[in-house]
Amino acid sequence: MSFMELLQAVPAAFIGLCLLLGLMVGSFLNVVIYRLPKMMESGWRQQCAELRGDEPAPQTTFNLIVPRSACPHCNHAISAWENIPIVSYLLLRGKCKGCGANISPRYPIIEAISGILCAYAAWHFGFGLAAAGALLFIWALLALTAIDFNTQLLPDDITLPLLWLGLLFNLFGIFASLHSAVLGAMFGYLALWGVYWLFKLVTGKEGMGYGDFKLLAALGAWMGWQMLPLIILLSSLVGAVVGITLIVAAKHGRSVPIPFGPYLAGGGLIALFWGKPLTQSYLQLLAS
Ligand SMILES: [Zn+2]
Repeated sequence: MSFMELLQAVPAAFIGLCLLLGLMVGSFLNVVIYRLPKMMESGWRQQCAELRGDEPAPQTTFNLIVPRSACPHCNHAISAWENIPIVSYLLLRGKCKGCGANISPRYPIIEAISGILCAYAAWHFGFGLAAAGALLFIWALLALTAIDFNTQLLPDDITLPLLWLGLLFNLFGIFASLHSAVLGAMFGYLALWGVYWLFKLVTGKEGMGYGDFKLLAALGAWMGWQMLPLIILLSSLVGAVVGITLIVAAKHGRSVPIPFGPYLAGGGLIALFWGKPLTQSYLQLLAS
């Protein structure tokens, strides 16, 4: 029996493999979440300097691979055994081996969420292309959620490839027909673009960013246009509940922007797993 046949025949083996893969990629997502916004910022700085005609500042290499991960407090280089998802955090009791500074629980939390969602996707879809697509979809949405939460940015470097990847999977009709996916990408973008301009004309303020339009376009490309009302409804509901809670708790002023990306991503994940039964039940509700 080959390895592929084993994964196909024994669901537990496939789920276990996806759990491990989810944990390891989750660890890499932590790097993306931390470094990608910094890379974007340094790129913008460089462009501004070029526009002003300044001498370009000497650049040190900083990307997703280089330099190696190190403690932000003491620069202690993270060795391989200190980099095992979740296990290392528990063994180190959440403290840096070099200086004893606390390591943010954000790292093991992202790893755990990634692992659990990937294992669930493996169980839900079974061995095949749909599970592979679901894993990529989950990783992109996790990274976008955390980056938007930290910096109020939704990097094009993630949203645009996510959109094309959704169209690629649906070229084979994995999650929706190609027809529905193309319309989903267009309507997804236009829906929030329309809300943005309406809101701006009425209130003179900007309610959301262009990254939100691109993210909803990507979700439409993956799930098809039929899922867009569900995704918008779910993300607005959760967004409104969280937003009102924050305003009531007086931690946020009414004018402080609340990132919308995490709610869209949450709506996208719900659509991935339960979109079909949910849309069927609300269509039945409308018909009755
Ligand atoms: Zn340290």
